Amino acid sequence: MSHDRADDGAQHGAMHPYAAGLAAGLVRYQVCEDCGEAQSLGRHACHFCGSVRLAWRDASGLATVHSVTEVVRAPDESFQSIAPYTLVLATLDEGPRVMAHAEPGVTIGERVRATFFQHGGRTLLRFRRE
Ligand SMILES: [Zn+2]
Repeated sequence: MSHDRADDGAQHGAMHPYAAGLAAGLVRYQVCEDCGEAQSLGRHACHFCGSVRLAWRDASGLATVHSVTEVVRAPDESFQSIAPYTLVLATLDEGPRVMAHAEPGVTIGERVRATFFQHGGRTLLRFRRE
């Protein structure tokens, strides 16, 4: 295990590009460099054509709410302090879907914009109404 960036306890060296994007205030997604399709989840190969030439892109942060979950009982201790909270599956304007926190009361089909908050040493995505 590396301790080169242990200053804030985060594993910067091993940070996933998606998490690193959030820390920089960006929502990132992958696109296939062969067929151009956007990917909904971090992948090793294109969901559409099987190519492994996937690149990370910065999204606009604008999205449409696809589904909403109100979390009353947090699944782990670190989230109990912010429960109840709202989670959404949102479709980025670029196509991929992302799971994120959201402003309470958002509804399916609503237009939302990405904001970010710090929790447990990580930057997390939180959508608010446009
Ligand atoms: Zn492809």
